[in-house]
Amino acid sequence: MTKEEQFEYNEKAFKIKAGTFYHAKHFSHREFACKCCFKEAMDVAFIMFLDALRDKINAPLLVSSGWRCKSHNEAVGGAVNSYHLKGMAADIYSPFVSCTKIDETARKMGFGGVKHYKEQGFVHVDIGPKRTW
Ligand SMILES: [Zn+2]
Repeated sequence: MTKEEQFEYNEKAFKIKAGTFYHAKHFSHREFACKCCFKEAMDVAFIMFLDALRDKINAPLLVSSGWRCKSHNEAVGGAVNSYHLKGMAADIYSPFVSCTKIDETARKMGFGGVKHYKEQGFVHVDIGPKRTW
């Protein structure tokens, strides 16, 4: 493997437990980095769900917000117990598929929280308990 290939490989390897990784099909660590500190600690089960959603949508899904540190979450007015803090949530959209379609598909797949923010043009998905707000 070249250095570049190794970097790309690592970028898609999400830790399950010590020495065991899930190699994401569609997503890289850097896509979920906090906007303020660039840290990231995504939950592997969430990444698996997002990969499955991406397969169903069959079009690129862009992440406008992934992992958030506490101070960034406060800065953007996130809920105190936001799943973004746990790496179990992302705000997503696609240049090719409507948010309505993403919203419907995510609900059918059994994500916990799904909310279409119509004015902002993204869909929040998380793997917390099933709920609407
Ligand atoms: Zn941060």
